Amino acid sequence: MSINLEDNYRHKGMRKQLVDLLRTKGISDEKVLAAINEVPRHVFLDSSFVELAYQDMAFPIGSGQTISQPHTVAFQSQLLDIQSGMKVLEIGTGSGYQACVLAVMGAKVFSIERQRNLYFKTKEILEQLSFRVKTFLGDGFEGLPTYAPFDRIIITAGAPTIPEKLIEQLKPNGIMVIPIDDENGNGQKMLRITKMADGSLKQEEFGDFRFVPMLKGEGKD
Ligand code: SAH
Repeated sequence: MSINLEDNYRHKGMRKQLVDLLRTKGISDEKVLAAINEVPRHVFLDSSFVELAYQDMAFPIGSGQTISQPHTVAFQSQLLDIQSGMKVLEIGTGSGYQACVLAVMGAKVFSIERQRNLYFKTKEILEQLSFRVKTFLGDGFEGLPTYAPFDRIIITAGAPTIPEKLIEQLKPNGIMVIPIDDENGNGQKMLRITKMADGSLKQEEFGDFRFVPMLKGEGKD
């Protein structure tokens, strides 16, 4: 697959407008906004969507999956409170865009994807960009015990419950940001879970979102 890495003045101008829009929607963390301004989102989309890459919308990325809406990416990144050098685990690599935003914010990102096609396609794109992201093919419910513990964990698919193994792989004082399925089947509620020093969990809720489902096991395609 040939990937067009061109990032021209038009793309940069559209990205700046997107950043301004995200500010009006309540994103205030300057590190998040700077990362959105830096990562060329159009490179992660099929070329037919390039004109729409800087709209605040989700888009199909193949294998029935989507690249999250920029506002959702910014919102989850802001809740994570990333400090430079932190180890971050992402569940749901998808296009790789969210992972790159976190990498630009200074995180060392480990990201798991269950769909084989998507995993390989994104790996190829990431190899041509110079962000600090390691990708893995597997089931996010299992996490990455070999690389644990993590300072932060972000789940970018709608989870039925809080995955026990991921809580185990979170450091004390670590933060997990996870969209949990709503009881009435209407999308997800965004939760921020802090693992306190004594191991207890503090849970905060941050509004309604809509994600593709977090599914068990490795995907077939
Ligand atoms: N973070 C992505 C958004 C991806 S959409 C981006 O920036 O583009 C959610 C992704 O989660 C999909 O690619 C889906 O295949 C993946 N997914 C769903 N369940 C999973 C699981 N158990 N483990 C790993 N990935 C999973």
